[in-house]
Amino acid sequence: MSTVALIQLKAVTKMYGAGATALQALKGVDLSIEAGDFVAIMGPSGSGKSTAMNTLGCLDTPTTGEYLFNGVHVETLGRDQRALLRRRYLGFVFQGFNLLARTSAQENVELPLLYRGESAKMRHAAAKKALASVGLSGWEHHTPAELSGGQQQRVAIARAIVTEPAVLLADEPTGNLDTQRSHEIMHLLWQLNVEHGITVLMVTHEADMAAYAKRIVHFVDGVVDSDTLNPHPKGMQAVQIAPSTQLRTEPGNTPAEVTHVA
Ligand code: ADP
Repeated sequence: MSTVALIQLKAVTKMYGAGATALQALKGVDLSIEAGDFVAIMGPSGSGKSTAMNTLGCLDTPTTGEYLFNGVHVETLGRDQRALLRRRYLGFVFQGFNLLARTSAQENVELPLLYRGESAKMRHAAAKKALASVGLSGWEHHTPAELSGGQQQRVAIARAIVTEPAVLLADEPTGNLDTQRSHEIMHLLWQLNVEHGITVLMVTHEADMAAYAKRIVHFVDGVVDSDTLNPHPKGMQAVQIAPSTQLRTEPGNTPAEVTHVA
């Protein structure tokens, strides 16, 4: 029995510019991602990783080819419809955290809900819950300047999951962090994937961080060069060897599971 993949790229190409200066960033990418997967996207600089992530994140459209999100042809959607799909189903985490500087962790996390028009009461409760699920209970009223890089990335992850997305897209989420914080963030992403059912797509240059993923997709020169399953994801080993108590959440204090879209 075959299941419909949550995400499918079929022969996707992306051309930037035209004429003599035209550059083909993607040259026919085929990629199929099931709900619940945890994919690390790797490859040398200029190989098309960001272009692929922008496409997967509905921020950009392919020049040719198809992008199906839960069976919906994204390449045929207009800008507003893509924005809706993004707001409803996708969460984003960036290397540079992208938090509002003079705004508390709580308010940063509430922002996507404010854009959605949710009530203040709902926003407060959901943001508090999301911050708790990334291990930041008690830090709600701190501004980014009062938090470490690892804590800022946790706030950014809380902001990304507060809308209960089906998919979390993370672009080098550990790129600005030291090794210890990087592993903590990866462990958190692993928990969101395994315990909360969020599909995670992550670009990384670091093999140590990619080792947390269930699958590693390698881009070279605008195509998928290799696509391999990781038989022993690192998060799984960490739990078997040394269970983390730091991020344990209380029953009923976790984001609702979103494993598929309507
Ligand atoms: P990676 O993320 O693997 O470093 P990118 O997807 O950023 O690769 O880039 C792939 C290729 O497309 C590169 O040659 C890059 O210079 C080019 N490129 C990316 N974005 C643009 C753009 N907006 N305009 C023109 N060329 C671009």
